[in-house]
Amino acid sequence: MDSCEVLIVGGGPAGSACAWALRNRGCDVVVMDKATFPRDKVCAGWITPAVLAELSIDPREYAQGRVLQPITGFLTGTIGGSTVLTEYGRIVSYGLRRCEFDHFLLQRCGARLRLGEAFHAARQESGEWIVNDAVRAKWLVGAGGHFCPVARQFSETALPHDDPAPVILAQEVEFEMTGAQQAACDVSGTHPELYFCRDLKGYGWVFRKGNVLNIGLGREHESRLSEHVAAFCDFLHARGRIRFALPTRFHGHAYRLRTQVPCVSASNVLLIGDAAGLASSHSGEGIRPAIESGLLAASALIESSDPATVVTQYAARLQARLGMERAETLSHWLPSAARIWLGQMLLRNHWFTRHVVLDRWFLDTKQSALSL
Ligand SMILES: Cc1cc2nc3c(=O)[nH]c(=O)nc-3n(C[C@H](O)[C@H](O)[C@H](O)COP(=O)(O)OP(=O)(O)OC[C@H]3O[C@@H](n4cnc5c(N)ncnc54)[C@H](O)[C@@H]3O)c2cc1C
Repeated sequence: MDSCEVLIVGGGPAGSACAWALRNRGCDVVVMDKATFPRDKVCAGWITPAVLAELSIDPREYAQGRVLQPITGFLTGTIGGSTVLTEYGRIVSYGLRRCEFDHFLLQRCGARLRLGEAFHAARQESGEWIVNDAVRAKWLVGAGGHFCPVARQFSETALPHDDPAPVILAQEVEFEMTGAQQAACDVSGTHPELYFCRDLKGYGWVFRKGNVLNIGLGREHESRLSEHVAAFCDFLHARGRIRFALPTRFHGHAYRLRTQVPCVSASNVLLIGDAAGLASSHSGEGIRPAIESGLLAASALIESSDPATVVTQYAARLQARLGMERAETLSHWLPSAARIWLGQMLLRNHWFTRHVVLDRWFLDTKQSALSL
């Protein structure tokens, strides 16, 4: 039987970040993932520069042979309404492809990899975890994303019973444009476009990353998502942003927004990333909290050998770092009757768009990169 100190289930950004930090301190780590890499993940692939800083990734090095689209501004507005162009004149974000980024992170993390192997079950034996009757580990880290099987197995103890966290349902398509399609696409790589739904319960995006186009839309608790996605595509065509037929097959996925930091541990188990439901309730940004929770879990594991201390430290640090987000999206600010009218007005305003929507909600400029 294979054995290790920490078994991480899930090799996405959360799992890789945690493994990388543990391996840097000499810990014996195994990452198990049901997929073989490179694998894709439904995601727009937008990151803030803090993500690269937190993992000591040099953007120039990463960009060798991979897509890393610098972003220096945004075009924002409402679907069907007017738009605002915000210029920063410097790099404030990047666009990347998850099939490349996740593979890169997993390869550099230095852990032993068990890929193409799904987590089925864990049982305890002499104070250690036996997973799939194949791996023995002191600690189990659940990094399996929104449908994480570890979170599910321990949901009785690890997550609140009536979890009130809102779930975002999203659909997107990402594809490499042909030469003719590039000529018929007015979306600029340096200026991604974000269009809020008229009721402010979600937004659509168009990201161009080099010759790759990513289009999607996410909404809270949405049962008629496909209709919203179709209406969004019609809008992009009507505005002339895209003048060619879009693929009809969009991929769906879900993630939970953080409204409070959930209880993220059971006996010798920690949950990180989407498995713990940590995406920003303002923007839906999930990669950065996934990475930060992975790093925080690793630091707690490195600093103490006492399970109770590890759990307390991890929960406290997560709370200090991610638990303070206020529920201040437009839809929370405004009563529903006033929402459409006031929302359209605010999103036409250059000051509000730059300082509240972009700086505060999407770029989180006040929060510097996590340094441990
Ligand atoms: C449409 C959409 C667009 C998004 N756009 C952005 C964006 O632009 N920027 C941003 O910051 N966030 C975005 N997000 C959120 C972001 O994608 C997630 O928050 C992020 O991927 C979370 O990382 P993770 O490592 O926790 O989980 P994941 O990236 O989901 O990785 C989980 C891993 O666990 C593995 N796994 C699952 N089940 C098992 C099992 N049984 N056994 C073994 N392995 C298993 C999976 O194969 C996967 O590799 C978006 C989400 C969606 C749905």
